[in-house]
Amino acid sequence: MSGTLMSGTLLSRAAADVASEIAAGTLPPDAALHATIAAAESAHVGPDGLNAVLWSDHEGARAVLAEGAPSGALAGIPVAVKDNIATLRMPTTCGSRILEGYVSPYEATVVARLRAAGAVIPMKTNMDEFAMGSSTENSAWGGTKHPLDHARVPGGSSGGSAAVVAAGVTRIALGSETGGSVRQPAAFCGIVGVKPTYGRVSRHGLVAFASSLDQVGVFGQSVDDAALGLQVIAGVDPLDSTTVDVPVADYRAARHVAGDRPLEGVVVGRPAEYFPDSLDPAMRALLDRAADRLQGLGAELRDVSLPHTDLAIPVYYIVAPAEASSNLARFDGVRYGLRVDEGEGLRGMYEASRSTGFGPEVTRRVLLGTYVLSAGYYDAYYKRAMAVRRLITDDFAQVFASGVHVLLTPTTPTTAFLAGSKKDPYEMYLSDIFTATANLAGVPAMSQPIGRIDGLPVGGQLLAAHFDEATMFRVAYALEHALGAEAHR
Ligand code: GLN
Repeated sequence: MSGTLMSGTLLSRAAADVASEIAAGTLPPDAALHATIAAAESAHVGPDGLNAVLWSDHEGARAVLAEGAPSGALAGIPVAVKDNIATLRMPTTCGSRILEGYVSPYEATVVARLRAAGAVIPMKTNMDEFAMGSSTENSAWGGTKHPLDHARVPGGSSGGSAAVVAAGVTRIALGSETGGSVRQPAAFCGIVGVKPTYGRVSRHGLVAFASSLDQVGVFGQSVDDAALGLQVIAGVDPLDSTTVDVPVADYRAARHVAGDRPLEGVVVGRPAEYFPDSLDPAMRALLDRAADRLQGLGAELRDVSLPHTDLAIPVYYIVAPAEASSNLARFDGVRYGLRVDEGEGLRGMYEASRSTGFGPEVTRRVLLGTYVLSAGYYDAYYKRAMAVRRLITDDFAQVFASGVHVLLTPTTPTTAFLAGSKKDPYEMYLSDIFTATANLAGVPAMSQPIGRIDGLPVGGQLLAAHFDEATMFRVAYALEHALGAEAHR
């Protein structure tokens, strides 16, 4: 797959190394961009192929690099950006007809930071409409295909970004996370995906789905690519009052894994609730192998419990739709994008615009959210869900306070499933069973490849305490190093 596409090109090398050569002038400013444009063509990322890329701006990217040699940690590095993150020059449609043709008048803080670090943004990627989904089948612009098996889904909702990185087109891409939308597609596609601590990365310019859960996340071909991407976008932002002024650690500090026991003193917890009896034995075996490797590197393994884990899906599917129903009220046919002028008066226009513009999953979430927030049901659903959310958060707090540094779990219950195979929405919702907890609790989490089942990638998830991304990356680097080629077989 990507190996053959990438081999011999700059895309087979770490983004950090290529950026430093571009910054030093030993590589031409547009060398990495050229490699990406060529790879995008041979991987068929457009609508006739993987359908991973919705909008492209190769010209704009070239023009930036023609202005002079880029500098910064991402000098000359192309980064693909999910279609719900505001960019200039290209549309920002959130995979929705209601935003068809909408071009933002400003750019997201994360995009501004990428560009300030020397990166270029040549493409926007496909996604489930308004980031609601786990397969990227819910896009108004058609589903994205899994790069290894076109009959399967790449996961979602950031499936376009995951597919682009897995197909070897860019080393780094941005996605967004509300309940697992970076980690789950990363796991399905055999790449690295990181969801930072809530408040670590600015949401300014990320179109809101569920504001108390949303974070921008990063995909990387390797742990180092993802760490570098997060390094650039992390940090307090005056334009997002939910960002927190905690110093950004050096996420790449542990990239040179040295010595026999680099994880001496690190305690890795294995929460029983993430390893149910029903877990696929082949998946369990790969998690056991990863745990063995961590132990071999000096880490101590500890069995732990997060007792409220099974309540995460019910709580998530109350809280997320509740917030979505409120956030999506702004798409009314007046302020943005699509207007359908049918029906009686203003109300008729609202109804016609929203019914035409929103797809079935978005409509379902708005109805669900409006219901759980309504006067008669607020206490029974929303208020209770918030109380249980606190219990889930407390589970993590207790386990990390007990001396555990990171948790190791599966990222998903299955490997990439067949397109069209999850007809029942509730079945689709269960894809997030191991990921939604981190969003509810606000803790950082990431997925990295730990092996394959029947040729399909499996992700191992690491979770850490609030704002301790550095320890999470330290363990991820060591695990990646210890697994080597085993991570992809
Ligand atoms: N699959 C989950 C949902 O549909 C999570 C989506 C996300 O993280 N954006 O809500």
